[in-house]
Amino acid sequence: MTEQLTPFDADRENEPGNNRDLESLDPRNGEVIAAYPISDVATVDAAVERARTAARWWDVQGFRGRREWLLEFKRAIASDADSLAAVVSRESGKPPADALLEVMLAVEHLDWAAKHAKKILRQRKVSSGLVSANQASYVGYRPYGVVGVIGPWNYPVYTPMGSIAYALAAGNAVVFKPSELTPGVGVWLADKWQSIAPSQPVLQTITGDGSTGAALCRAGVNKIAFTGSTATAKRVMAACAENLVPIVAECGGKDAMLVGEDADLDAAVDFAAFGALSNAGQTCAGVERIYVAKPVYQQFLDKLSEKARATTPGGETDSAYGPMTLGKQIGIVRGQIEDALAKGGRAVVGGVESVRERYVDPVVLTGVPEDSTAITEETFGPTVVVNEVADLDEGVERANASKYGLGASVFTKNKGKGKQIADRLQSGVVTVNSVLGFAGVAALPFGGVGDSGFGRIHGADGLREFSTVKSMTVQQFNAPLNLLTLNRKPRDMKISEWMLSKRHG
Ligand code: NDP
Repeated sequence: MTEQLTPFDADRENEPGNNRDLESLDPRNGEVIAAYPISDVATVDAAVERARTAARWWDVQGFRGRREWLLEFKRAIASDADSLAAVVSRESGKPPADALLEVMLAVEHLDWAAKHAKKILRQRKVSSGLVSANQASYVGYRPYGVVGVIGPWNYPVYTPMGSIAYALAAGNAVVFKPSELTPGVGVWLADKWQSIAPSQPVLQTITGDGSTGAALCRAGVNKIAFTGSTATAKRVMAACAENLVPIVAECGGKDAMLVGEDADLDAAVDFAAFGALSNAGQTCAGVERIYVAKPVYQQFLDKLSEKARATTPGGETDSAYGPMTLGKQIGIVRGQIEDALAKGGRAVVGGVESVRERYVDPVVLTGVPEDSTAITEETFGPTVVVNEVADLDEGVERANASKYGLGASVFTKNKGKGKQIADRLQSGVVTVNSVLGFAGVAALPFGGVGDSGFGRIHGADGLREFSTVKSMTVQQFNAPLNLLTLNRKPRDMKISEWMLSKRHG
C-alpha cells in the first residue's frame, strides 16, 4: 500500500516492467473483492497517448455532438445505476442507499455539464472600447486536450465526476486514476463509456496506487484535477510543476457549523448529525466543528447527543453508516480524540473506546481547546466537536481561525443575518439553515481556499476550469488613430494625449 511509500519510493515502484496487482477489499470485513493492475509508467503513457488521439475526435464533435454523447453516457449510467451503486457500496463499505444517492448526484452533474457547456464556453463578443473601436473582439474557450483526474475513495463516483463530466463537456479527453481503495468504480465508469463509444477512448481508467497517480502527472497530460489530502496535493503540484501542468486541487476541510440563539434547534441538530456522521464522517465538506451560541448551547448539545447515541454504524443495508474505508484513518481519529481529552475536552457521547477495529461509533466532544488537533486538523471520522461561543460573531472568528476553508454553515431564523454571517465566513461554499445543501446544485462551483485547495469544479466555473481562454480581435477597418505603426503621425499622438487627459485625467 502506498501510505508507507515516500513520493520517491512511489516513483521507483512504478518503473517500467514493475507490474504488480492491487486488491480491492471490502472494508466491512477485509475480504478481497477483486484484483487490478498497478499501471506502470509505460501503461500510463500509452493511455495518455490514446487519449490525445481521442481528444482530437472529441474536439471535432463540437458542443452539440458532445452534448449528445454525454447525454447518452448519462442515460447508460442512470439505467444501470444499481450496479454502479453496488460497486461503490462494496468498495467503500457505505450503505447501498448512500451509494445510490451518490450516483444520482453524479448523474445530475453530468446532465448539467452536457447541457450548459455550449452556452458558457462558446465564443462570445465583448466590447472593444473607444480606443479600439475598429476591432471586433471575442472571447472563446478551448479544451486543454487531455485531463488527468486523480480521484478519492470517499465519494468515488460523485467527486471524480465533478471533474470528469465538466472536463469532458469542455471538450477534453480524460484519463481517470481512481483511488486504490475504489478501483472497480473507475473501471465501471470507463467500461460504460466504452460500451457506447468503443472506438473512442475519450474516458479511460488506469488503476493503480499513488505511484500511478504520480506517473499520470508526468505523462504529458495538459491538466490535472486532484481530490484528496493537502499533503498529496503538494506532491501532485510538485510533479506537475516539472512540465508546467496546471492543477485544480480539491483538498480536505475542517468545516464549521454556527448555531445562533434563534436557530431552529431540531433542524440544526438533524443537519449536524447528518453532516458529521453520515458516510462515517468521511466527507470533505462534512461538519467537524460546531460553535453554538451560549443561550442554546446546552439544549443543542443534549439533543445532538441523544441523536448520536441512537446512531449505529454497521455493514447492514439499514445501518446509519458503514466502516472506515481507509484503515489508517482509524489511528488518526483515535489520536484526535485522545488529544482533545488530554487537553481538557470532554466526551459527551463515546470516547476513545468508540474507535473499533473497522467501525467508529459516534463521538461528540465538547469544551475542546481550539489548539487541539480535533479542531485544527481534518478528522474524516464520525466525531464532532461542539463548543460554546457567546454569539455568531465569535463563531465566525473561531471558524475563520482554521487553515482550511472548504465549507461552512450557519443556522439562524433570520435569513438576512444568516446571509451576512455566511459572507464573512472564509470558505469556498457556505449554506444557511442546511448542510451540504449545495451538493445537488450543479450550477454552484465547488472548491476551497487555503489548505482546502484552489480552482473550482461544478457549475460554469467548473467548465471554464477545464478550458483555456482564447481571446481574438478581428480588425474591421483602419484605426482612425493609427498607433500600431512605427510611423505614428504627430497629429495622432496629440489626439491621444488629449483623450488621455479628457477620459482619465
Ligand atoms: P491521498 O490524498 O493520499 O489520495 C488521493 C488520491 O491521490 C488517490 O487517488 C491516491 O491514490 C492519489 N495519490 C496518492 N499519492 C499520489 C502521488 N504521489 N501522486 C499522485 N497521486 C497520488 O488521500 P488518502 O486516500 O490517503 O486519504 C488521506 C486523507 O486525505 C484523508 O484522511 C482525508 O483527510 C483526506 N481526503 C480528502 C478527500 C476530499 O474529498 N477532499 C478525499 C480523500 C481523502 P491511491 O489511493 O491509489 O494511493
